[in-house]
Amino acid sequence: MSERKQFRAIKGTRDILPPDSALWNWFEHSAREVFESYNFGEIRTPIFEETSLFARSIGANTDVVSKEMYTFEKKLEILRGAFLQSSSGVTDAASLRKYLQYLAVFVDNLQRGITVGEVSNAPENVEVFSILTAIVVESVARHDNGQSEPDDRWNEQLRRSRILVEQVDIGGGESLRPEATASVCRAYIEHNMQALPGNQKLYYIGPMFRRERPQKGRYRQFYQIGAEVLGQSDAPAIDAEVLEMLLVFFNRVGLTRTTLYVNSIGDKNCRPQYVELLREELRKVKDKLKEDSQRRIETNPLRVLDSKIPEEQSIIETLPRISDHLCDECRAHFAKLKEELNLRRIDYKENWRLVRGLDYYTRTTFEVTAEGLGSQNAVCGGGRYDGLVELLGGPPTKGIGFAIGTDRSILSIEEGGNAPKLSGLAVYIAWMGLASYPTAVNIARKLRAAGLSVELPPEEMKFKKSLGLADKLGARYAVIIGEDEVASRTFTLKRLADGDQKKLAEGELLEYLESERRR
Ligand code: AMP
Repeated sequence: MSERKQFRAIKGTRDILPPDSALWNWFEHSAREVFESYNFGEIRTPIFEETSLFARSIGANTDVVSKEMYTFEKKLEILRGAFLQSSSGVTDAASLRKYLQYLAVFVDNLQRGITVGEVSNAPENVEVFSILTAIVVESVARHDNGQSEPDDRWNEQLRRSRILVEQVDIGGGESLRPEATASVCRAYIEHNMQALPGNQKLYYIGPMFRRERPQKGRYRQFYQIGAEVLGQSDAPAIDAEVLEMLLVFFNRVGLTRTTLYVNSIGDKNCRPQYVELLREELRKVKDKLKEDSQRRIETNPLRVLDSKIPEEQSIIETLPRISDHLCDECRAHFAKLKEELNLRRIDYKENWRLVRGLDYYTRTTFEVTAEGLGSQNAVCGGGRYDGLVELLGGPPTKGIGFAIGTDRSILSIEEGGNAPKLSGLAVYIAWMGLASYPTAVNIARKLRAAGLSVELPPEEMKFKKSLGLADKLGARYAVIIGEDEVASRTFTLKRLADGDQKKLAEGELLEYLESERRR
């Protein structure tokens, strides 16, 4: 017999099974409740977008975009590459035939792409497509007529078709979202949300994808709950309210062993000078830094401040600090934010090295770390991104948001012993004898309609076995229905924790179990 392959979830991804999934649902449900109490509404965006959306917003130089994104190249792009390669070495009849085949396949797929809407049907594309189609028809006829050796006429046509194929606007590749702020901004622009009254307060819940090295608390498919405020105002009270909401939520779900760090990383008026100054100072100590930091001096010097490498810490501590180089507006904004946090009695620590990995942040940045997580201890990151919407082609807009890592938050709640006992199975129906089956079906439906979680065994079992299973499933009550009960039109209700038993009529039973309704 052939060996059957045992499939496993792809590295860095995992299944979330009951009863854990109930904890996840509770966590997400709590976020909805808290966020909606702050007048945030849910936005659901696709899990994949054009690659260039992420490259432009997060930054092509960041690790998230340059190393970790799951990107799909369009099939037509691959066919174009194959065609261009085949057409570069046409020296004999065989390579001429191959060139013609690749051209025909490309044109065929281009037609399909235009028809199904995967490739733009702009007039330029349609025109190139019709010229290419004519070339294919003519070439095939000529080839079939016996002209199958390369000659000047073929070479000229080859040159033309190459130019035309290169002209086709296939559109960029697509990527699974590594985060959702870019998508939210894209949607804000696409749906003209700046025309709506007030600030747009949006939250999202869903999976994100990054090809990182898997470890505890770090997955390739992970889940975030995030919130964004987009609009015309950058009042520090918005930043403070967002942070208050975040901490109210963490408190609600028992994520209490946390620390909030805040910083301001300036804006386009003051940050560039600071970055230059930092770069100059870093160049002076370049020899003492490791390879990654050395590279970042040129590509993204702020990221050097993120370094966790022990040998680099004493050097980093001597570097110039952004707080000494903020422009007046940024300094005032940060001071007001701290006042607002005090007003709301929010505990925080300033951390001048908190710069965040993504390019789009300005002014306020923050992070929340939690205990019990080892090195991957950040459960939430966020900040201001005034200018991002404009960068993506929208109107001048201010923005601030955060993303909570659900995987790590739940881990921390569990490690802290704060995970709630979620209700689970309330009632197990232990029926015996075919005469009691209709009564069992009936009462199961009524209890379920009353909001209880009920298990009805699909096949007859001996009472002992049935009650044993009720115990194993963790049911709180068993409703016993046998011949006696059917005859007396009653139910025996057994509390499984202590074995306490009583006989009840249907109405009494429903009333008694009222408190077991699922919340
Ligand atoms: P970021 O979008 O990088 O600012 O991340 C925000 C939060 O998402 C982090 O604080 C983490 O809690 C969580 N997170 C980011 N990357 C991962 C990952 N690969 N696996 C699990 N959680 C992650």
